Amino acid sequence: FQLPEIDNEPVKQYAPGSPERRQLRAELARQLEIVPDIPLIIGGKEIRTDDQKKVVCPHDHAKTLAVFSNAGKQEVDMAIKAALDAKKQWETTPWQDRAAIFLKAADLISQKYTYLLNAATMLGQSKNPFQAEIDATCELADFFRFNAKYMAGIYAGQPASEKGVWNRLEYRALEGFVFALTPFNFTAIAGNLCGAPAIMGNTVVWKPASTAVLSGYYIMQILAEAGLPDGVINFVPGKGSVVGESVLHHPELAGIHFTGSTNVFKTVWKTMGNNIDTYKSYPRMVGETGGKDYIFVHPSARVAPVVTAAVRGAFEYQGQKCSAASRMYVPASLWDEVTTGIKSAVEQITVGNVTEFRHFMNALIDEAAFDNAAGYIERAKTSDVAEILVGGNADKSKGYFIDPTVIVTTDPHYESMTREIFGPVLTLFKYEDTAIDDAVALVGNTSPYALTGAVFATDRQAIHDLTNALVHTAGNFYINDKPTGAVVGHQPFGGARASGTNDKAGSMLNLLRWTSVRTIKENF
Ligand code: GLU
Repeated sequence: FQLPEIDNEPVKQYAPGSPERRQLRAELARQLEIVPDIPLIIGGKEIRTDDQKKVVCPHDHAKTLAVFSNAGKQEVDMAIKAALDAKKQWETTPWQDRAAIFLKAADLISQKYTYLLNAATMLGQSKNPFQAEIDATCELADFFRFNAKYMAGIYAGQPASEKGVWNRLEYRALEGFVFALTPFNFTAIAGNLCGAPAIMGNTVVWKPASTAVLSGYYIMQILAEAGLPDGVINFVPGKGSVVGESVLHHPELAGIHFTGSTNVFKTVWKTMGNNIDTYKSYPRMVGETGGKDYIFVHPSARVAPVVTAAVRGAFEYQGQKCSAASRMYVPASLWDEVTTGIKSAVEQITVGNVTEFRHFMNALIDEAAFDNAAGYIERAKTSDVAEILVGGNADKSKGYFIDPTVIVTTDPHYESMTREIFGPVLTLFKYEDTAIDDAVALVGNTSPYALTGAVFATDRQAIHDLTNALVHTAGNFYINDKPTGAVVGHQPFGGARASGTNDKAGSMLNLLRWTSVRTIKENF
């Protein structure tokens, strides 16, 4: 069960004047010239439908980046059949060969297609060069490589045997097909939601977010070039209700691998509950859903790292991360220093086009995301219990731009303290130093989520107490660091409560969900 040594993909810096910067610019220019016509990919075949949709550029919504075919019922049924047809061969392919395909794909990503994927992620999903690099190149390659390593580790796990008896575990793929529903915000997550079940011998029907079809299509091409057999992953952009209708009623549905909103995951789960008698097996439910991620500042905290964590945690990628810092509890003794620090840091943030390279923030993904976040900002302007500390402007005339916005509120239950926004809005609440326990209790009681959280303190006893008191409030808990930016192989990622099933993307725990073990006892 040995594999070549697995390391994290190094991050390219794109320094001004560097050859990588030139190459990325050239690739961006190339992609802005063309409008690919993206097909469905079913059983390795490209299929087009009359239901044509557009991928538009979030910073310039008049610009079409690609057109793609939406799947109808017939194509979804074909994709399920293709997945089931490919299954026998794929699940009996030696695990080393499956690993080799994903290791090869990771190398293709890092050496041959990094500019293609990064540029598609920048233009289509509105990331700046650094954010695209750590997502579409580094994290995606890391997922593929570390999954190979974790798979080998799982297969090495075998029970004891005795003289004349050989006990062994056979790590079978699940029976049936896996449905991957993937989000727009990370190209890497989309790749992993398909790649993790696939490397374990499963075949997949993949419905990408319609705003991330461009990078998704390139992932399909890279996997094919790496040698992934036809039908192992079937690419079917489409309307959730249309794709779901066939998939969720199919007797061979073996599992769901999901990242997206809590509401959609609950709807999928309810539908599956109603259909439970239809299925041959109990489908595995693996979901990473929403977050209302916090920063809790203890009076012993150093202020400078708190400010950095708040600004990076809340506003990188316009706050469009499940992990984004969006509510902050600040003691009265540090309030002035923290709010002044955040205000002046936020005032220096520039918002603009990804192609200009120099902006910390870019456009939100689409109009619905814009309207939702802008709504919170507008309501705060007229609220009796909230006001805007900094930011507050939004403009969707050309692209979906919103300034980084900090709200302060006197009500710990105020809507922007409790609801997921998925946009560049951070809300601050001041607590009295004499009432720390009450403030800590608010963290767990005012939001249904438990994805990420961060505490800042220098007092060792306080760190210990906060870690214990906040035990069920976050699946990824950061001490003196921002609550975002988990790295594959270092911080397995996922949360519980309304944030998901906590099956930790980028870990053995996740891969274990994609195998159904047969225990074999043989007497000699
Ligand atoms: N893994 C990412 C992080 O640690 C967040 C993933 C997500 O937004 O779903 O920031």
